[in-house]
Amino acid sequence: MSYIKIDDKKCKSCYLCIDICPKKLIKKSEVCGKTGELVAKFEDKNNECLGCAQCALVCPDIAITEVYKS
Ligand code: SF4
Ligand code: SF4
Repeated sequence: MSYIKIDDKKCKSCYLCIDICPKKLIKKSEVCGKTGELVAKFEDKNNECLGCAQCALVCPDIAITEVYKS
């Protein structure tokens, strides 16, 4: 099972990760971040994450700190 971690404190709510995830596993959360906008959250109920790290690579603020691939 692969998964990622998004750091709420670093996320600036640009949503580039939402656009790039091939499995559409990243969404807006209900939590406001440093820009006052909703931060991104990872939701993968069916264990679909590929561990491809595209989300982490595209993030300008290095807010996606951990990508595990199994
Ligand atoms: S790309 Fe990074 S800063 Fe932008 S919404 Fe995603 S986690 Fe937040
Ligand atoms: S590692 Fe790949 S599949 Fe998993 S959340 Fe990031 S972009 Fe989506």
